[in-house]
Amino acid sequence: MTTIISRATWGAKPWNGTPASVPLSKRTEFFVHYDGGAHITRTGYAIMRAIEAEHLGNGWSGVGYHFVVDQAGNIYEGRGWNLQGAHCPDHNVSGIGVQIAIGGDQEPSAKALAACRALYEEACKKTDRTLAKKGHRDGFATACPGTKLYAWVKAGMPAGDYAPAPNPGGSLPSGGGSTVARYKVTIHDLEYGYGAKGDHVTKVGKALIKAGFDKHYTSGAGPTWTDADTLNYQDFQKSLGLSGDAADGVPGEISLKKLLGTIPGTVTPKPTPPKFPDQDKFGPGKSNTYITQLGQQLVRKGYGKHYTDGPGPKWSDADRKNVQDFQRAQGWTGTNADGLPGPETWSRLFS
Ligand SMILES: [Zn+2]
Repeated sequence: MTTIISRATWGAKPWNGTPASVPLSKRTEFFVHYDGGAHITRTGYAIMRAIEAEHLGNGWSGVGYHFVVDQAGNIYEGRGWNLQGAHCPDHNVSGIGVQIAIGGDQEPSAKALAACRALYEEACKKTDRTLAKKGHRDGFATACPGTKLYAWVKAGMPAGDYAPAPNPGGSLPSGGGSTVARYKVTIHDLEYGYGAKGDHVTKVGKALIKAGFDKHYTSGAGPTWTDADTLNYQDFQKSLGLSGDAADGVPGEISLKKLLGTIPGTVTPKPTPPKFPDQDKFGPGKSNTYITQLGQQLVRKGYGKHYTDGPGPKWSDADRKNVQDFQRAQGWTGTNADGLPGPETWSRLFS
């Protein structure tokens, strides 16, 4: 399954006039392109924005290729599967055009070739036919797609396994556009947000689709949280009347419960700290179970170094020194760090 970074995700401008729709049944060929004579050093979304600027400058609706593949193996949506291309005269309806974002004598990466090949396989699957493998120069007098890619196409487009790159990088255009939030939150011991993984992520995606918030998906919902999940979730949050940070596409408990009905996962209950006994339970000459409890908790928290034979019910100078260490670690001094526990020492120690 190819993972395609949608126009919304890479920050495409709206179409300048809507390109015509083309049914998959009209596709018979697959064209490979390169960027031109110069090496490409741009990475991530910047690749798409540069192509878009150039193609809009040509007076076209937007990016003319159906897809663009970068050296990291990311696949970006241009015209996508269902629109007429603008990549090779007389072949824009019959041909699906894919640019591999390199130029001149730049060496295509194995990942880029694998991604392009994966697109070709997907195109054949979708059209239910074996599409002709072509380079741009097979349809038009041009140097494109360069010597290296043309030789690759003629060799039958051999490639290794395709695996989508984990993170395309880049950021969305500033001003006008907004950046896609990329952080995780934990709700009921489960993670949500960019990069989060698990069945619960798929569950959120499926619920978004069911609720009609699915326009940013290009290949459905999956177990890894992507920018498309964030953008769809954001649309859902906005539908609840949320705005600003509350509608950044990363779930909160309220929206999650509205979407799913119940929040999956578990809540680990916080142990209730034991109630502070009277002050006079502690100190020289005292002996009781609270002193044992205090000592055991000091050891648990790493303040047991003065014990030589473990905490016990009988107050000792080791108890005092350990309590004092704990109090000093709170930044307390003087009588606040006298080694005798008060309510504040007790509650911090057991929190
Ligand atoms: Zn070309």
